[in-house]
Amino acid sequence: MLDDITWRKDYEQSEKRLNIALQYSKTAVWEMNLNTHNVIRSDSHDSLFGYGHPLDSWNLESYTAHLLPEFRTHLENAIRNLSIGDFFDFQGKILLKSGEIKWIHLQGKTEQAGGEETKKLLGTIKDITKEKIAERHKDEFISTVSHELKTPLTSIKAQAQILERRFSAMDDKVTTLMLKRIILQIDRLNILIKDLLDAGRLDEQKLFLRKEDFMFNKMVEETVAEIQRTTTHQLIIRQNPIIYCMGDRERTSQVLSNLLTNAIKYSPSKNKVIITTEEKEDQIICSVEDFGIGIAADKQPYIFERFYRASGMQERVISGFGLGLYISFEIIKRLEGKIWLTSTPGKGSVFYFSISKGK
Ligand code: ADP
Repeated sequence: MLDDITWRKDYEQSEKRLNIALQYSKTAVWEMNLNTHNVIRSDSHDSLFGYGHPLDSWNLESYTAHLLPEFRTHLENAIRNLSIGDFFDFQGKILLKSGEIKWIHLQGKTEQAGGEETKKLLGTIKDITKEKIAERHKDEFISTVSHELKTPLTSIKAQAQILERRFSAMDDKVTTLMLKRIILQIDRLNILIKDLLDAGRLDEQKLFLRKEDFMFNKMVEETVAEIQRTTTHQLIIRQNPIIYCMGDRERTSQVLSNLLTNAIKYSPSKNKVIITTEEKEDQIICSVEDFGIGIAADKQPYIFERFYRASGMQERVISGFGLGLYISFEIIKRLEGKIWLTSTPGKGSVFYFSISKGK
């Protein structure tokens, strides 16, 4: 009897501690029955939604009722499509009764509960409004800085090109070579700035794609030739059949160019990159293979994320923002295609992307 009381006291104490910790970290715990969609939750849960006292009950509709309309279907679909063992991750904006708008982050994992048929989703919910505001400020800062850098750089490049032509006409080989190197470095800076600007546009859904007829194989040849001018690696086009397609030529070329520069950057002690294109029904699949440092399996799921860089020794000395693959992923997604990879550390990587021929 005494044991029982002590045990219960300990339990209550630990529950109290957990609730205080959750409250201070603006986090709550929730558990949804995926059959009934009813939710059991910790004390602080309802206060995240602006309630002074816990409500009698909570369910999926309570979440959707608070969410701004553009997030509702996304949450409903995400919850309906869950299977046992799936991870759940959702961020959305909610409107409180006071008129205040907040960002919430729901995370969880599904489990089998009690009877065979019952699934439940167990996880945490967090107020991430502050983080979202900080993120927006950071994005605005990056976007302003990159805009400001662009104009002087364009002017520097134009002047350097005039000088290069003059010294070349005077047959001053040493100065011409130095100016060529300056222009190459300006081009590198331009690519970094373009990446920063594109990343900003992608977040604001402002990256527009064109639809035009073009020959995929010609785009491959020209992109490869352009990158070949900047490297001593041998870029080998192994297969590139004639393919007519409809889409955004420039953005597709941007993806290929990013994969090629990565293949070169991340294979510093090798000198070969192989490009292959093939047609499969209404899809075009293009691949870029390198024999460089490769990517560990546990890092592969993250490399298309914004600002992600695998943190190996080599990446630290190779420059980059971790934006190229994020931009490529988003472009390919908008072209209704796919981008993926196979890679073995120390042996190399093959990056693939597929897009529809669009006819
Ligand atoms: P960045 O190259 O600027 O870091 P990316 O978005 O293009 O950014 O790539 C993200 C990360 O993925 C890189 O930092 C690198 O760790 C890894 N990565 C990309 N391509 C390759 C490759 N071909 N071989 C090995 N690692 C790669």
